[in-house]
Amino acid sequence: MSFGVETYTVEFSTSGKDEVKDLTKKVEEKIDESEVDDGICLIFAPHATGVLVLNENEKGIREDYLNGLYDIVPEDSEWKHDRIDNNAHSHLKSAIVGTDRAIPVTNGSLDLGTWQNIFFIETDGPRTRRKLILKLIGEVSS
Ligand code: ZN
Repeated sequence: MSFGVETYTVEFSTSGKDEVKDLTKKVEEKIDESEVDDGICLIFAPHATGVLVLNENEKGIREDYLNGLYDIVPEDSEWKHDRIDNNAHSHLKSAIVGTDRAIPVTNGSLDLGTWQNIFFIETDGPRTRRKLILKLIGEVSS
């Protein structure tokens, strides 16, 4: 066994103003390409108005993610940043929930729970150039 660091990018677009996008399969394709067998997969979305979550992919809860975020950060408040580009609520959702997750990798697969999927939540779409950066760090199969 030896130690390795690999970097992958998952590119995607979003079609709605708000959208819950399941990127689990696209991330797992990169994990399959990777030679890291045992380690950590850091997933990072380099976007100030995106949200990254690990959770269930069910129609109702997907709408609840958007509605719950709206309840926490209403769009019609007197946000100061809205004077610039009218998307303060998007920045606040991103700042509160975050844009990174670390997932253990064992035997070349993500250790996701049965009901965990990898979602990018768009809060300021539609956007054509969104991406996730993956850093895989760990023992590489020989
Ligand atoms: Zn802004």
